[in-house]
Amino acid sequence: MHTFTYSSAPARILFGAGRMADLADEVRRLGRRALVVTTPEQRDLGAQLVDLLGELCAGYFDGATMHTPTDVTARAMDTLRNSGVDCIVAGGGGSAIGLSKALAVRTGLPQIAIPTTYAGSEVTPILGETEDGRKTTRRAPEILPRVVIYDVNLTLSLPPTLSASSGLNAIAHAAEALYAKDCNPITSMMAEEGIRALGGSLGAIASDPANLAARAKAQYGAWLCGTCLGAVGMALHHKICHVLGGTFDLPHAPTHAVVLPYVLAYNARAASDAVTRIGRALASDPNSAADADASRYLHGMLEQLCLPSSLAALGMPAGKLDVVADLVMQQAYWNPRPVERASLMRMLEAAFAGTPPSADLSM
Ligand code: NAD
Repeated sequence: MHTFTYSSAPARILFGAGRMADLADEVRRLGRRALVVTTPEQRDLGAQLVDLLGELCAGYFDGATMHTPTDVTARAMDTLRNSGVDCIVAGGGGSAIGLSKALAVRTGLPQIAIPTTYAGSEVTPILGETEDGRKTTRRAPEILPRVVIYDVNLTLSLPPTLSASSGLNAIAHAAEALYAKDCNPITSMMAEEGIRALGGSLGAIASDPANLAARAKAQYGAWLCGTCLGAVGMALHHKICHVLGGTFDLPHAPTHAVVLPYVLAYNARAASDAVTRIGRALASDPNSAADADASRYLHGMLEQLCLPSSLAALGMPAGKLDVVADLVMQQAYWNPRPVERASLMRMLEAAFAGTPPSADLSM
């Protein structure tokens, strides 16, 4: 076993159906005046949280949007200052939690995250923010929510295609954790288990979105995959998705779902052990006939789960792949295979067209 360093994130996790009922007690552990943040589409959830908190709720903001634009954060900061709050409660997916993190890093206030997707942001000390079409990322201890409440009931309303793409977004965290420069046996174990849990539940959710057991398994997988994202460094896949989201405003989770198979094909030789482990974890779904080729299997899942399977289908403008390649090359992440422009362009072209990822992308 190689030498490694493992730091565990100091978060408190409440897991299970109905756990949202613990919210007021959790707020009392942190403060007395909570600001509730959510997205415009999740106002009903926001109202439920305000109701549950009663007099512990001192402020409300429902303007969170994807990729955490700094102008939205500035407006939420006005609400925060005017209400004199001492903690933040985020209800929603990565967008609501991203805004909460942006507020926490500016104020030092503790946060409680109540995730409703599988994005995993709630268990990472990472914040991605967008300003003037550029997404930048930073890490800091105060960005990590202190408490996470995983209440499976809140995921039942997540539409099937969003559930599928969000689950694949989580799988992408675990996949890159398996070949991370600073990977270690603990995160690798969580990564495989997280992929196994999601790989074995997304099909069941697609055919029956009210399947509580499958929803709980997916949420458990999302927690593990998100923990991997927070614990080790990510690589080329996350870099490409940041550029596509921040500069071209492509939707976060569906972009991860489309790009992942191509990056795994790109890294297949350089990270062969990791890619084999990903295929093994996916293939352990008893209902699947996976051939353990992780990239082809994941690409095939897109059609099975009724998801777009190309960047073109996500609205990526034709003729802009050069810009993506330039931005990726400018601020390159560590990657198991050195990133070289010509092969990166070939991979982006395949992802744009949605052609099945082939072995020659690894060369
Ligand atoms: P999201 O939060 O934008 O949610 C997508 C849409 O689904 C929104 O309209 C939302 O209101 C709605 N929604 C969410 N949960 C729902 C539910 N249960 N029922 C019905 N509707 C629901 O999407 P996301 O993919 O969760 O998050 C994307 C954002 O999170 C991006 O900005 C991304 O950069 C960030 N992110 C950050 C990290 C991190 O560690 N920093 C990790 C993952 C994602």
